Amino acid sequence: MLARFKHWIFDMDGTLTLAVHDFEAIKRALAIPPQQDILHHLAALPESEAAAKHAWLLAHERELALTAQPAPGAIELVHALQARDCRLGILTRNAHELALLTLQAIGLGDCFATADILGRDEAPPKPHPGGLLHFAERWQVAPNELVMVGDYRYDLECARAAGAFSVLVNLAENPWPELVDHFAVDCAALRQAL
Ligand SMILES: [Mg+2]
Repeated sequence: MLARFKHWIFDMDGTLTLAVHDFEAIKRALAIPPQQDILHHLAALPESEAAAKHAWLLAHERELALTAQPAPGAIELVHALQARDCRLGILTRNAHELALLTLQAIGLGDCFATADILGRDEAPPKPHPGGLLHFAERWQVAPNELVMVGDYRYDLECARAAGAFSVLVNLAENPWPELVDHFAVDCAALRQAL
């Protein structure tokens, strides 16, 4: 089933990298209510307040990018897909420049074309399907030929909304069976399922 797909899009943080973002701590630092989405909250703020908080977030995430570590099996999975001539993209709620830094830090800097790395300024944040639909148009394939690999429900909801195949990795169990087409405990297990 998985082997027939030639177009793969990855979430970055916590999917290709070991998860290090403490989103609750970020919300506390930026005075964002716990139940609110960080990016949506910032988007609704007056420009002056939003600018300072975006700057703080970028600086915080830059630190995390520089010390990023690959998730188990992530490098090998990406290389295996490259060897099969798959097209590869990144769809992240992180910033584009930090995605480049992160991918370099984990040794995948050469594996993704810059134009195939969509950050929060290039696409509406997941779970909005806009990023995946952008890839479908850019690569001239139907959305149901795309695989979206991620570690959080936003990635899966994004895949569902776009009509793509959803893959969940890096959790011990699958808490969202209704959203998941394929579950693998990590990228190494996903590679073995190819
Ligand atoms: Mg993630």
